[in-house]
Amino acid sequence: MSWHNTPIALMAKALAAKEVSSIELTQYFLDRIEAGKRWNAFLDVNAHLSLEQASKADLLISSGQSGPLTGIPVAHKDVFVTRGWKSTAASKMLEGYLSPFDATVVANLGMPSEDNPRGAGMVCLGKTNMDEFAMGSSNENSAYGPVPNPWNAECVSGGSSGGSAAAVAAGLAPITTGSDTGGSIRQPAAFCGLTGIKPSYGRVSRYGMIAYASSLDQAGPMGKTAEDCAMLLTAMSSHDPRDSTSLADSGEDYGRYLQQAWKAGNTNVAKPLEGLRIGLPKEFFAEGLAEEVANSVNTAAKALEALGATLVDVSLPKTRLSIPVYYVLAPAEASSNLSRFDGVRYGHRAAEYRDLSDMYKKSRTEGFGEEVKRRIMIGSYVLCHGYYDAYYLQAQKIRRIIAADFQAAFNQCDVILGPVAPDVAWRFGEKSKDPVQMYLEDIYTLSTNLAGLPAMSVPCGFNKNNLPIGMQLIGNYFAEARLLQVAHQYQQASDWHLRQASEVA
Ligand code: GLN
Repeated sequence: MSWHNTPIALMAKALAAKEVSSIELTQYFLDRIEAGKRWNAFLDVNAHLSLEQASKADLLISSGQSGPLTGIPVAHKDVFVTRGWKSTAASKMLEGYLSPFDATVVANLGMPSEDNPRGAGMVCLGKTNMDEFAMGSSNENSAYGPVPNPWNAECVSGGSSGGSAAAVAAGLAPITTGSDTGGSIRQPAAFCGLTGIKPSYGRVSRYGMIAYASSLDQAGPMGKTAEDCAMLLTAMSSHDPRDSTSLADSGEDYGRYLQQAWKAGNTNVAKPLEGLRIGLPKEFFAEGLAEEVANSVNTAAKALEALGATLVDVSLPKTRLSIPVYYVLAPAEASSNLSRFDGVRYGHRAAEYRDLSDMYKKSRTEGFGEEVKRRIMIGSYVLCHGYYDAYYLQAQKIRRIIAADFQAAFNQCDVILGPVAPDVAWRFGEKSKDPVQMYLEDIYTLSTNLAGLPAMSVPCGFNKNNLPIGMQLIGNYFAEARLLQVAHQYQQASDWHLRQASEVA
C-alpha cells in the first residue's frame, strides 16, 4: 500500500478498520524520511520516540479510546517547540535546543494524557526545515540548508514552511503543521502542489510557537486535501489561556460543511455552490502576475462558476501597500521578539568575549543569519525615536485601511479568489541576492495577515514546466469551515491536488 499517496481521511478509516496499525504507518514514513534525505525536509527525527507514540496510539485504538486522528503521523514545522525533538526554528541561535514543554499545537495533536486530555493522539514524525525564524519565501534562509522542491529539485520549495511542504509533496509525511505570518503556509503549499490553510488570527494558539511577528503569526495545516486540512485544523485549534490573543473555543468541526451545498436546501448535485458569490479583486490580476498563473486561476474561477458560484468583480485598492506596511511591522515586532536571544536568557553564547556588551554582540553576530539580522536592523530603525511616527505608526494606520478594504469587498461577495503568488517556484539563487525582489513575491498573501483573515491555498494547475500553481481563497473572519467547503467542492470536481511529483517514487 502506498500510504504516502493516501489522504489522512482514508488513513483514519484504515486504522479504525485495523487494516494497518499506527506502528506500521509510522515505520513506513520513517523509512521514507530515511530514504528521502536529499529533500533536507527534516531537521530532527527520533524514530524511537515516534514508535513509542505509535504503540500508545495502537493501544488507544484497540481499547476503543481513539479519535479520528489517533495513530496518524504528523510532522511539525521546527517553529513549534516539541518535547523530545530539537526545536531550533532553523537557526544556529537555537542549535540543539531541547524544549521542556510542548507548544499548544503539538500538545493538541499529540498523545492524550492526564495533563493533556484533548490530545488527538497523532504520532510526531519529527521537525521540518524552514527559513530561519520563519523569515523568508524560499527556505534558502535556513541555517541548515535549503529544501529542494519535489516537483523539480532545482527549484525552491517556497517558504518559510518549505520543509513542511516538501515533506508532504515527497511523501515523507502524510500531513504537516506550518505557520503563516505573511504567506508561509500558503506559498510553499502552492509551490509544492498542496492544500493549506491559515486560519483567522487567534484561532490557533501561538503558545510555544517561536515568535516572529506576534500580531501576524498564525499556525495551520498543510496537506493533500481540504478534508485533511479540516481534520487537522479541528484538532489544532483551541482557546488557550497562555496566549492572550487566543479566541474563545468555538468547538467547531471545520469539516462540517464539506459534503454540503453552499445553501441549505439546495439539492442540485451538479451545482452545490449555487448562491456563493466569489469576488475577483482586480488588483490581484494586474501587472506582475505570470500569465500561466493568471490562466490557471481564471480557469479555476470558471470551474467554480460551473459548480454554481457567481463571479463578481471586487477591488482591494490598497493591496500594493501591503508590502511596505508588512515589511515595517513584521521586522518591528521581530526586532523586539528576537531580543531575548542574547546568549544569556536564550540562545547561542560566543566562546570568547571581552565584556558583557561584547558578549551580546558576538553571540548575536554568530547566532543569527543575514536575513534575520537585516530584519532586526530594519525593525530597530522603524521603532526608534524620531522615526516611529513616520514608519511604525503610519504602517499601523494603513494596516487598518487594508483591513477595511476587505470588509468593503465582503459586502459584495462571500469568498475572494486570486493567485497565491505571482509565479511558480523559482530556481535556487534566482532571488536570494536581492531582498526586495524576494519581498515582492509576498504581494498576494501579506494583506490577509495584516487584516487577520483566514485564507487557503488550493492546487489549481501546472505551468509548462510541470510546476504546481495554487489559487488563494480568502474568507471573512471565522469563515474557515466555509473556505474549506469551497475548496472541497472544487477538489471533488478536479484532480490537481491528487497529482504526484514525478521525482517521487
Ligand atoms: N515571506 C514572508 C517573510 O519573509 C512571510 C513569512 C512568513 O509567513 N513567516 O516575512
